Amino acid sequence: MQELIGLSFSNLQQLLADMGEKPFRAKQLWQWIYNKGVTDFSQMTTLSKPFREKLSGLFTVSHPKIVTEQNSTDKTRKWLMAFADGQQVECVYIPESDRGAVCISTQVGCAQGCKFCHTGTQKMMRNLTAGEIVGQFMAARDSYHEWPTPTDETRYLSNIVVMGMGEPLYNFENLKTALQILMDGDGIAISKRKITVSTCGVADKIPALADLGVKLAVSLHAPTDEIRNKIMPVNRKFPLNALMQACRDYQERVEHRQFITMEYVMLKGVNDSPDQARDLINLVKGLEVKVNLIPFHPWNGSPFEPSSNNAIHRFAKILEDAYIAAPIRRTRGEDIMAACGQLKSEKGTVRS
Ligand code: SAH
Ligand code: SF4
Repeated sequence: MQELIGLSFSNLQQLLADMGEKPFRAKQLWQWIYNKGVTDFSQMTTLSKPFREKLSGLFTVSHPKIVTEQNSTDKTRKWLMAFADGQQVECVYIPESDRGAVCISTQVGCAQGCKFCHTGTQKMMRNLTAGEIVGQFMAARDSYHEWPTPTDETRYLSNIVVMGMGEPLYNFENLKTALQILMDGDGIAISKRKITVSTCGVADKIPALADLGVKLAVSLHAPTDEIRNKIMPVNRKFPLNALMQACRDYQERVEHRQFITMEYVMLKGVNDSPDQARDLINLVKGLEVKVNLIPFHPWNGSPFEPSSNNAIHRFAKILEDAYIAAPIRRTRGEDIMAACGQLKSEKGTVRS
């Protein structure tokens, strides 16, 4: 049986046309799946009974299975989700007072091996399909009963950050299809301004994000190649000059010169000195950026220590004196290992 979630609208249209169905049926089916969140064909009451029966003999509409759900004392919620072949990823919802972001994964594990990242210690198993990427958001909506798609102002799950497990730009085609589905106004309808894709620096794919119109976050974490090479192997393939050029290209192409978020995890004695703050200012000259300073979240066996509060504030002040916004990211969900860089789904290693 073929899974329908993850097919682009034009592919769904084609599929139904091949079955001899009229074009408006594709739109109706699309709305049942992505606006109402219905997975059972028999409940799609605007479709004729014979059509529904035909569909259920050929296709499935399925959201990932929730294996476990954990709730943090700060209301962050983390799910371990399983797909049809049993592979699993983690997905997190981070609520603010009147809205919130769902953090979704793009791969099972990650091959990039950044030294500070827990996900990086998990073997890369496979890319997620477009349907599995979209499905995580749909399962999160199930969990909060947020179907049908609410109006923009009233929704609780308002934003998407592609900051979970895996490197999204090494799964670019599936990511692109998934984002197009998530942004479609007849379905889930998350606007491009509410979606942020984070990359460790796959420079050759970054400008293409401008065409999708989504926001860009770069896991920068070091102001020089020397330091970055030591903590992020990807830097040997795409060194900082290539990465910064890609950021300039993105910013020239994207609407309204959308600013770029530079993520910078503060590692004691590695990248947190005043000189390094000044190197960072030089590095991002000419770009519209915000630098998100992330306290390092330790995990069992991690080789680094978090920078002191003083070091973080000193670093932030130097950036701010140069007119670069440098908010210190508030840690969320640390008690359930849901904070940045703590996700891991390998069997037997998931803490509960
Ligand atoms: N692979 C993509 C998407 C993951 S985003 C990327 O690297 O950008 C997850 C974010 O958390 C990244 O900015 C990552 O660098 C950061 N991170 C990883 N490990 C961390 C840790 N132990 N503490 C804090 N942040 C971490
Ligand atoms: Fe992969 Fe991103 Fe973690 Fe690096 S920081 S290992 S790219 S998930």
